[in-house]
Amino acid sequence: MSSFREIGERLESLKKFVGITDKEMLFLKKPMKTLAFKIEYEKDNGKKEVVDAYRVQYNNVLGPTKGGVRFHEKVGEEETKALAFWMTLKCALTGVPFGGGKGGVRINPKGLSDSELERISRSYIKNIYKDIGPWKDIPAPDVYTTPRHMAWMMDEYEKLTNKHAPGAITGKPVVLGGSKARDIATAQGGVFVLLRMLEKLGMKKEKTKIAIQGFGNAGMNAAKILAREDVLIVGVTDSKSGVYNEEGLSVKSLVKHKEKHGSFKGFEDGESISNAELLKLDVDVLIPAALCNTITKENAGSVNAKIILELANGPVSIEAENTLEEKGIIIVPDVLANAGGVIVSHYEWVQNNTGLYWDEKEVLGRLKKQICKALDETYSVKQEKKVDMRTAAYIVAVEKILRAAKLRGLV
Ligand code: GLU
Repeated sequence: MSSFREIGERLESLKKFVGITDKEMLFLKKPMKTLAFKIEYEKDNGKKEVVDAYRVQYNNVLGPTKGGVRFHEKVGEEETKALAFWMTLKCALTGVPFGGGKGGVRINPKGLSDSELERISRSYIKNIYKDIGPWKDIPAPDVYTTPRHMAWMMDEYEKLTNKHAPGAITGKPVVLGGSKARDIATAQGGVFVLLRMLEKLGMKKEKTKIAIQGFGNAGMNAAKILAREDVLIVGVTDSKSGVYNEEGLSVKSLVKHKEKHGSFKGFEDGESISNAELLKLDVDVLIPAALCNTITKENAGSVNAKIILELANGPVSIEAENTLEEKGIIIVPDVLANAGGVIVSHYEWVQNNTGLYWDEKEVLGRLKKQICKALDETYSVKQEKKVDMRTAAYIVAVEKILRAAKLRGLV
C-alpha cells in the first residue's frame, strides 16, 4: 500500500477519538497544492537530461508550508504527498508555526558529480521560485541533500528574486545564515525524546542496547550523540553493509572506517550483519534512520526491540504496526522523534528574519524544551485515551489543525 493511501486509513481510524466531519476529513486528506514538473539539466558530458521533480504544499493553516527536498531515485508524487502531510502534523504537534510541505527530485545522486548536483539544485528552484519564499513555502535538506545543496538553492532564489532572502531556505551553511546545530538537530531531537521516554517507562539508561539502521545525517549523528551517553550501540547498518558487537561498538572507529572505506565492510571490531539481521537483534531500542517502509508486515514479526524510535520518516508500514503492537513494542512516531530538524529550521528562520544569531547552547536548550514538551503532551494523551503513541500524536496535531482551519472559516 502506498504511504499516502495509508494516511487516509490512519485518518479514518482517528474518528474514534476526534470528532471529524466529512468536510474536515476531505480537508485533511487533500493537499493544498501539488507541483509536478520536469527538470532539465546539463550533464558533465554536455548532454541534456530530463528528470521528474515535485513540490507539495500540503496545508498552511498554521503558517507557511515547510519541508525538505530529497534527491532519490524512488521519489514520486504519492510519497511526496505523504511526506508533506507528515510535515504538517510534525509542525502542529511540536508547536512550530509552519504548515507542511515536501519536495523531491527523482535521481540517483550517488552517480552524479558536484557540478551536476549544483545544476539540478538550481534548476529545481528555477521551476518553483514563484511558489516559495520566507512567508510562503520554505525548503530544507532531506534524504541526500545537505547544506551545500541549500546554499545553491538559496543563491538561485536570491538571483531570481533580486533580493537578499536567507529565510527562504533553511538548513544552510552557518556562514550563509544557517543556524548553529541545525546539522545535528534531527538526531539530537531524537536523542532528547528517547532519553525522556526511557525515564517515563522507568527503564534505566545505563547499558541500554541500541541498534541503528541507516548511517546518514540522522543515523550517524544519533550514534555520535548517543556515544556520549552511557548506552551500548550494538549494531549499525548502512545501505550496503552492517556490523554487530554485543559488547558495544566504538562510534568513533565506525565513523572513521566509513569515511575511509565508504561502508562498514572489513570493520574488525564486530561481526558483519545485514539489514534484515539488524532488525531482528535483541535490543532495547531500534532506530530506523533511513527510508520509508523498512519495517513491513513481512519482517515485523521478527523485530525484538522494546522501543522503536522512528528517526526516518515513515519507516514502519501500517500493516507492520499491528504486529509490533501485539508484541508490546512501543513506537515513538516520526512526527515526534525526528521533529528536531524542523524545530531548528524554524529557529534558523527566526534568526534570519531578525538578524540576531544564537549560540549552540541557546539552540539546544530551546530544542530540548520544545521537543520534550511535545513528548509530554503526546504521552499524556496516550495514557488518557489508552492509545499508542502515534495515535496520540495524530490526535494532538489534527485537533490543532482543525481548530485553526475552523477559525479561518475553511471547514
Ligand atoms: N527534512 C526534515 C524533515 O523531514 C527537515 C525539514 C525542515 O527542516 O524543514 O523533518
